[in-house]
Amino acid sequence: MAQRKKPAVARPPTAQRLPLPAGAQLRQLQRHLLSWFDRRKRALPWRKTRDPYRIWISEVMLQQTRVAAVLPFYERFLARFPTVRALARAPQEAVLEAWAGLGYYSRARNLQRAAKEIVRKHRGRFPQILEDALALPGVGRYTAAAVLSIAFDAPLAVLDGNVARVLARLGARRGDVRQPAMWRRLQSAAEALLAPAPHGTPGAWNQAMMELGATVCTPRAPACGECPVARFCRARAMGLQEQIPGKRPKRAPVDVRLAAAVLLDPLRRTLLVLPEDGAGNGLFSRMWQFPALEVGSGAEGALRRHLRESLALEAAECVALPAARHTVTFRRVTLLPFLVPVEELPEVRRPRAAAGDSTRIALADVERWPTSSATRKIARAALRGVQAAFRFPH
Ligand code: SF4
Repeated sequence: MAQRKKPAVARPPTAQRLPLPAGAQLRQLQRHLLSWFDRRKRALPWRKTRDPYRIWISEVMLQQTRVAAVLPFYERFLARFPTVRALARAPQEAVLEAWAGLGYYSRARNLQRAAKEIVRKHRGRFPQILEDALALPGVGRYTAAAVLSIAFDAPLAVLDGNVARVLARLGARRGDVRQPAMWRRLQSAAEALLAPAPHGTPGAWNQAMMELGATVCTPRAPACGECPVARFCRARAMGLQEQIPGKRPKRAPVDVRLAAAVLLDPLRRTLLVLPEDGAGNGLFSRMWQFPALEVGSGAEGALRRHLRESLALEAAECVALPAARHTVTFRRVTLLPFLVPVEELPEVRRPRAAAGDSTRIALADVERWPTSSATRKIARAALRGVQAAFRFPH
């Protein structure tokens, strides 16, 4: 009789693919790093708590944003939304307003969607099970591991850009750390380093690795002389710390021209609209924006057509204002604002337009509204244009 195949047994993660310390050496490395972290860690407000909600907020804010930029927002946001329930029941406008200035507004929207789910499915408590955390909107492997390890001591290793760089240097692994196969290898290595940690909690270990990458093992000019794990570092031994990790190939820049209509009524109020579902682009982050569209060479004609089709507005005048430059990742955007004086601001006419799809506010107040930086640039250009060149009819 044919023998049944034994089911494959999941092997524990090992650091074999990356030549990292193991056994007694690894325990030494852990001791050195944790004791350094204990002495040198920055006193950051989210390090004073084990409340998963507060840790979660900090982790989301810190994505693609520097610590110094997050600090003024963190306490203010928590004062306004002190609990998951408070965040879940707040109007979205209020959440976006508290987020204004941090950028990447999809993070704020996902935070609130996740808060609602936590209230609905988990009785207002951040889930402790990895799969449940991963099912929340906007919560990926990194955020889940960070929150669960710091708040609940779950043995989950975090891997972010800082940790990836530290690991690549410790193991002298060249190449682009964001390349998927490399990232998977680094994730295994991060887990292998975390798994046998008898000297500290997973949360402390994860934070120590991130802190090392953020403050000592920096992208440029790492301070190897001050590094608590320098003696275990292969990149340093080989003099390769400046070359590892390899540079990411840069995406070729793409030029984009965007025409925007700054409608202005006799009370100097303007119209902002919300993009329809799925129509948001990276420029306006699905935030309040001026009616706008991407254009080729005939910007004014295209904008007039857009106003006719989307707002049933025949613009009598369309005054070109000075262009503004804006860069979003690989896109070099030329913003072309046009001032369009109107007797009355139009209504938004969409098949499924809902109350709140458009708003009328003083042009001077756009800066204080939850808008993207591109919209604020257009508003500033328009204000300058109104003051300097445009004779507004009285
Ligand atoms: Fe980074 Fe230098 Fe420390 Fe190696 S020795 S981990 S390169 S700071």
